Amino acid sequence: MTDRQDDRDLPDGVREIVAEIESEIGDEDAPGPSEPRTAGHNGRIEAAVREILTEIGEDPDREGLRTTPDRVHRMYAELTAGYHVDPERLINRAVFDVAYSEMVVVRDIPFYSLCEHHLLPFFGNAHVAYIPAGRVIGLSKIPRIVEMYARRLQVQERLTQQIADFLMERLEPDGVGVVLEATHLCAAMRGVRKPGTVMTTAAVLGLFRRNDKTRAEFFSHLARPAPGTP
Ligand SMILES: [Zn+2]
Repeated sequence: MTDRQDDRDLPDGVREIVAEIESEIGDEDAPGPSEPRTAGHNGRIEAAVREILTEIGEDPDREGLRTTPDRVHRMYAELTAGYHVDPERLINRAVFDVAYSEMVVVRDIPFYSLCEHHLLPFFGNAHVAYIPAGRVIGLSKIPRIVEMYARRLQVQERLTQQIADFLMERLEPDGVGVVLEATHLCAAMRGVRKPGTVMTTAAVLGLFRRNDKTRAEFFSHLARPAPGTP
């Protein structure tokens, strides 16, 4: 999906988000958002949004809606910026050889994604754990990995699996566990309304899959209140 050539055409807003996901704050060689905006703006999304507005019985030319097609275009570009993130840049210099082999757990990572069936948001928290086999990844990178996959059209199951697979491939740890808890606006807003319904998905690899004790340890971390919470 990623083609760095095409990325020169990214609008500024998207480029900024991509750079933010790829780089640490204060990174000196982070690609700046100041490169000129070029193409990528053929008006097709604007035209399509106007069509939708007309089809639902609205007047796309009334004052409140006049700039909506342009805003929607920019919004979708930003919400799907994850397609343009380069995983190599993301993990650049953040994988370290460390002789640590206990479970590392990063809990309560907030994420926002778009369901690919309705283009409506689903959002919640991600919990990511792995057992290093000689290599660890910088702590701040894990939320960025979540972000890289969340800012795409997704189903929650695939998002969960992609985060787990990515860590498994890049770190070659003894195991990875990922749990996502999310509210889907397409479920909350449509049909029988059940606000507050939370969908939970899990992906377990390696020891997390084979070893009941490892899995139980992971889930016990998630059940416990976070340190510092009253
Ligand atoms: Zn949906």
